Amino acid sequence: MTHVDTPSTVAPVGGPSLPQERRLVTAIPGPKSLELTRRKEQTISGGVGTTIPVYTVAAGGGVLVDVDGNSLIDLGSGIAVTGVGNSAPRVVAAVAAQLAQFTHTCFSVAPYDGYIEVAEALNRLTPGDHAKRSALFNSGAEAVENAVKFARHYTGRQAVLAFDHAYHGRTTLTMGLTAKNLPYKNGFGPFAAEIYRAPLSYPFRDGGLDGVEAAKRVISQVEKQIGANNLAAMIIEPIQGEGGFIVPAAGFLPTLVDWCRANGVVFIADEVQTGFARTGDMFASDHEGIVPDLMVLAKGIAGGLPLSAVTGRAEIMDAPQVGGIGGTYGGNPLACAAALATIDSYESDNLVERAREIGAILTERLSALQAEDARIGEVRGRGAMMAVELVDPATGEPDAALTGRVAAAAHAAGVILLTCGTYGNVIRFLPPLSMPDHLLVEGLQVVADALAAA
Ligand SMILES: *Cc1c(COP(=O)(O)O)cnc(C)c1O
Repeated sequence: MTHVDTPSTVAPVGGPSLPQERRLVTAIPGPKSLELTRRKEQTISGGVGTTIPVYTVAAGGGVLVDVDGNSLIDLGSGIAVTGVGNSAPRVVAAVAAQLAQFTHTCFSVAPYDGYIEVAEALNRLTPGDHAKRSALFNSGAEAVENAVKFARHYTGRQAVLAFDHAYHGRTTLTMGLTAKNLPYKNGFGPFAAEIYRAPLSYPFRDGGLDGVEAAKRVISQVEKQIGANNLAAMIIEPIQGEGGFIVPAAGFLPTLVDWCRANGVVFIADEVQTGFARTGDMFASDHEGIVPDLMVLAKGIAGGLPLSAVTGRAEIMDAPQVGGIGGTYGGNPLACAAALATIDSYESDNLVERAREIGAILTERLSALQAEDARIGEVRGRGAMMAVELVDPATGEPDAALTGRVAAAAHAAGVILLTCGTYGNVIRFLPPLSMPDHLLVEGLQVVADALAAA
């Protein structure tokens, strides 16, 4: 068996104790990462990709240290997961304590209080003061699937409406809800029945259509093509994630919520990516002033441990028969301990405010870049969830090739940078909220240099 050693010095301790610096000691990827990539290709399904093929040995604060000893600035948070940082001390202590007590019983077999405490916290934190219930799962996709189950059972209806540019996951039902063919859906059909798709409000690309008008376009389409009486649920990301950090025009979401309420349709906010302080509010729905019937939560919920949730109106959540909802691992005790410590950190460390500060730095720097570079078509997002859409200045057409070159150059310079968008032309910024300012500014400078050189 081949073995790749960690650097010859003592392996770095993770978490915020890591030196908060960008440090390149080899090319990216370095020789040890290249060797691991070779082994990956011989062992792991070719369907499993990696954005930046450096192999992690430690991470914390705003950096990720690789097997070759490079320290990279993390502008991705493992896709908006490590909001509180990697190996955040509070999370480490809570998980370690739980680990020493018990690791698993299955909540549906012999329950434990951590699951209840997480549900209490979610019921308290999510928008609206109505009676709420929660259920816990493992992944975002699994929670989306269950949100649809709750809505169908409660309404006795079948149809589900999703939107252009939507991303809801990779299982059969959630692939069907997801809009983009490549890479998510291609060759994986058939998809689930009774899924419909409506146009989104996408101010940069729909001529600045007013939010209320964009919502009326949706409602008209639903009434003509589906019939409100057949529609169980409407599911939407308040700010779309994989679809390109698209922020709908003001009035779009409230108009849809009002129509859903008037027509007995369950409004599901998929806050898997936007949730937990990320957008400078605890949830993106807070900013919009909307109260979803059901919220789907995952990514930022548990400091990196796998956990997801559906939280919503008690009468909807209590509709299914006993045993109709659950799973072996859903609400695992370690993940619950992590979630409680993570949620405590969002609240006690005032990370909502920190996300706003990060958002102010991102907005200022990215807007300054846009002012002198016509290839930046739009700067958008909220809080620590910001993006730039790159276009051909002459035509306004999406420039995916440029986007790819900028990301590759940033990676080579030691910055983990993610792209997204239906047209592959959006660079997204999702720093951990534990990122110190100096690293954020340095990371943005690397991206600016990459853009200038591209
Ligand atoms: C990531 C994501 C999902 C899927 O979550 P998984 O944990 O990857 O299954 C669903 N919805 C949104 C908005 C997401 O960003």
